[in-house]
Amino acid sequence: MRLRNITGSREVISGSPYVIKEEMQRECAGKWKDIFGNDSPIRVEAGMGKGKFIHTMAKTHPDINYVGIEKYSSVLLRAVHKMEQEELPNLKFLRMDAEDIAEVFGQGEVDRIYLNFSDPWPKDRHAKRRLPSGEFLARFARIIRSGGRLEFKTDNRALFDFALKELETASAWELEVSTFDLHKDTGLMRDNIMTEYEEKFSALGNPICKYVIIRK
Ligand code: SAM
Repeated sequence: MRLRNITGSREVISGSPYVIKEEMQRECAGKWKDIFGNDSPIRVEAGMGKGKFIHTMAKTHPDINYVGIEKYSSVLLRAVHKMEQEELPNLKFLRMDAEDIAEVFGQGEVDRIYLNFSDPWPKDRHAKRRLPSGEFLARFARIIRSGGRLEFKTDNRALFDFALKELETASAWELEVSTFDLHKDTGLMRDNIMTEYEEKFSALGNPICKYVIIRK
């Protein structure tokens, strides 16, 4: 994602009722049902960008709670503006690096995780920063319930091949389904919500890869 430093974005984010205050993030672990005020399942998108996918999901599924994680204030700001236009009670945001995700959710507290068009980090020495890496899968395994799912979409074939390879040694996870061309798979497309990047890259003719893995 191209980043522009938007003046004042940090201040807007820290004053927004839709964003969990940074100093409160670690106190949320194990308390998300209280935060949302109900017992609905908690689903998380790590690296949500401007939030089109998660906002649409939250609007479509009012009986599920959603938490969007984004590293950069200037990007998160767009998701906050969207909430100002159309407020949803079942959606909250965290401005943080997803590498700290296991500090912010309790063990087994999360029902599902979405990784959409995660940054590829093409250099080998940066492989651990890739969200579908073994290191991240271990963090996600701590917070997701047994039987919960992680869904990953990308148009980057090298990143997808890497993600499939990482699964071979990720003993907490089991592959449920995968495709190298999501948009031609009528079954998987039935509930598909397009992300911003998915719209952009599929319009260019790039096939979209997807896998769904299950926490054992
Ligand atoms: N998910 C959106 C989509 O599909 O349209 C955005 C995709 S964009 C390529 C990746 C986003 O993930 C960027 O906004 C980036 O800042 C964010 N991101 C990357 N690594 C992250 C991390 N470790 N923690 C939180 N956000 C991250």
